[in-house]
Amino acid sequence: MTTRVIQRCRDLAAISDSDRSISRIYLSPAYLQGLQQTEEWMLQAGMETWIDAVGNVWGRYACKDPQAPTLILGSHLDTVPNAGMFDGILGVMVAIEAVDRLKEQAIELPFHIEVVGLGDEEGVRFDASMLGSRALIGKWEDELLELTDQNAKSLESALEACGLNPQDYASASRVNDNLLGFWEVHMEQGPVLEAEDIPISVVSAIAGARRFKVTIEGQAGHAGTVPMGLRQDALTAASEVVLMIEKTAQQNNNLLATVGHLKVFPSAVNVIPGWVEFTVDIRSDDDALRERVMNLIFHSSEAISMSRGVEIYWSEYHWAPAKQCAPRFRQIFEESIAQQKIHVRTLVSGAGHDAMTVAEITDIGMLFVRCRGGISHHPDEYVSAEDAEIAVNTLVLALEKLAESLQESGVESSKD
Ligand SMILES: [Zn+2]
Repeated sequence: MTTRVIQRCRDLAAISDSDRSISRIYLSPAYLQGLQQTEEWMLQAGMETWIDAVGNVWGRYACKDPQAPTLILGSHLDTVPNAGMFDGILGVMVAIEAVDRLKEQAIELPFHIEVVGLGDEEGVRFDASMLGSRALIGKWEDELLELTDQNAKSLESALEACGLNPQDYASASRVNDNLLGFWEVHMEQGPVLEAEDIPISVVSAIAGARRFKVTIEGQAGHAGTVPMGLRQDALTAASEVVLMIEKTAQQNNNLLATVGHLKVFPSAVNVIPGWVEFTVDIRSDDDALRERVMNLIFHSSEAISMSRGVEIYWSEYHWAPAKQCAPRFRQIFEESIAQQKIHVRTLVSGAGHDAMTVAEITDIGMLFVRCRGGISHHPDEYVSAEDAEIAVNTLVLALEKLAESLQESGVESSKD
């Protein structure tokens, strides 16, 4: 079985900056071509379309009442280098298909739907992620335009090269619009749904994260002359800290901690390591829990520093609070899944998503679609046609349920 959603994901995958792999980096020629292709599919689904000043593509499926609020459906169209064909893309294609279904069945809603294909969620080119959704929430500033890629090309000139007007970035903001919310369908990028044999799940929250660079300063020395008891080995101290972090994290549900990068100095076979640097990434959907665990980790790190006679410095370089999905959207998604006789499962998103950014200006809802092996950011990304179909059905049912709930309560906008 293949569906139009999967076929379109495949068609987009064929539009690439590389002839050996899938790559549509923000504002690249292939990225732009992908936008135009997506715009064409939006037109076919009966939407009015445009590309905004920062290179997000939009399609609007308007309802009869011009004063009605707008629900935005979408995800991102950019990819990492050597990508799979579903990360981000799937959510945009599912949304277009859902609108097409509404048009085919002549379903009228008491709100406008806009589908957006966002640029630069991945942050590959300009070392700043979520640029597309950040423009949507009005968080661009002039300084951003000066960001450069590895070829020293500025964001400003990259936008111009795509025929866009960088100075006009504020026009991409939706801050002052009457928004109902933002719904994002995304592949799970993890192994849980496959392991539990469930095609789709509701997302309860997007985990918040803190990231640190940890530096341990010991004393380098000759591997053959300094007795074990007189050493200040930065690497053995780091090992103790790394295992302590793992153990502390394991004692808590809803929390993940990872040391993903470690560097040893001077890094020679016959020298006691005098200096170690490593990173820590800690995530949870519960900010208070994460803070409690961080305090435990700081405390234990202090104790290790004392007992081993080394200095341990923690420097934080990233902090993002958790974002909760709106309970009313979660409920609508749960009902839509249950109606298809599918077990209702709820997951926390450990990965960041565009919805996390958009949550600053409107309520968010998210659905995860099962993928194979939890594989993502890799050519082996796989979502089945059956599961993509279930995602479309869930979205259409959810749109109808949202319409019913608004008609019952009288239309109102979100963020109250
Ligand atoms: Zn993604």
